[in-house]
Amino acid sequence: MELHLPLDLQQQLNAKFKGEVEYLVPLNELSYWKIGGLAQCVITPLSLDSLQEALAITSEFNEIPRIVIGDCSNLLFDDEGFNGVLIKIGDGLSKISVSENSIYCEAGAWVPEVAYRSYRNSLSGIEHICGIPGRIGGLVYMNGGSQRRGILENVDNVVVMSLKGEIRTIFSNEIIHSYRESPFQGEPVIIAAVTLKLETKSRAIVRNDMRKILSSRRKKFPRKLPNCGSVFLSNPAMYDVIGPPGFAIEKAGLKGVRKGNAQLSPLHANFIVNLGGASSSDVLYLIALARNTVKELTGFSMDCEVRYIRPDGEMMQAHTYTDSLDV
Ligand SMILES: Cc1cc2nc3c(=O)[nH]c(=O)nc-3n(C[C@H](O)[C@H](O)[C@H](O)COP(=O)(O)OP(=O)(O)OC[C@H]3O[C@@H](n4cnc5c(N)ncnc54)[C@H](O)[C@@H]3O)c2cc1C
Repeated sequence: MELHLPLDLQQQLNAKFKGEVEYLVPLNELSYWKIGGLAQCVITPLSLDSLQEALAITSEFNEIPRIVIGDCSNLLFDDEGFNGVLIKIGDGLSKISVSENSIYCEAGAWVPEVAYRSYRNSLSGIEHICGIPGRIGGLVYMNGGSQRRGILENVDNVVVMSLKGEIRTIFSNEIIHSYRESPFQGEPVIIAAVTLKLETKSRAIVRNDMRKILSSRRKKFPRKLPNCGSVFLSNPAMYDVIGPPGFAIEKAGLKGVRKGNAQLSPLHANFIVNLGGASSSDVLYLIALARNTVKELTGFSMDCEVRYIRPDGEMMQAHTYTDSLDV
């Protein structure tokens, strides 16, 4: 892939934007799955002001797709890369401050650090996020968590920016959410900061609960090979009758099945691991195979947690794309 961003955009980014700008960035180095071709451009704002600046510059180029990313721990990029601008929210926007029962985090705050700060300050409510990678903005977007809980249960307010850089605060009573669903998934906004509301508890109890969660995660999940966590969402109706997706995939006889260098993990079938050099089409094939086989055998559909980003900038739950493939 060659660099084909408008020269005008490159000049403006190089001259006016105060964060980092990189061109032709290998996505297989950026993403947890270690998969993906080149992105035309990745910009990393260093502050809320610099994020606003980035949005102001790029919004003049409507035809260029823009997607906001955190640590790419829940994303599948295509081998053909991404023909647009990725706005990476990371360390430059990662302030955390604690006051009484709340924790304010900029969107780039690292999830393990947020969990650690809640423990250090004897604050309880988000023990279930310990062990989850990524940035708090991504976690809020996904309404991620564990133990069948989601981070939005503990959110007091979220500061969002429109794609033009306008800021607004949304309070918890306006945030309608359900299992792994947030209103931010349907809106073109960037999560800039989050305030979590928590309860005071003995630090020893918080630590103990976190330790138990971490130890159970270490036993259950593959840790040595690149992966994106759980690929499929738990479907509550299927859960009651059959069980979670990993169990359904295993019962369908697919645990350990390989396509190219991607594999439905022999440790936990709801994880797809990259054995080295897996392609996006290998992963998409396994997603289609698991979804179609479980549907045929049980009648239940498993939707994906993982988002797939097409080279043209379209982002979707990966099954939405694989449903159009002939597998
Ligand atoms: C080993 C492993 C274990 C995992 N375990 C869990 C788990 O137990 N529970 C769980 O829920 N998840 C889990 N995940 C998935 C993932 O870690 C979380 O969803 C995570 O917090 C996403 O954060 P991120 O910064 O990596 O987001 P990304 O993967 O970079 O992005 C995810 C989505 O969020 C959007 N997004 C990111 N930042 C912003 C922002 N600031 N504003 C608006 N949109 C944004 C992106 O556009 C994308 O659609 C796991 C992943 C791995 C690799």
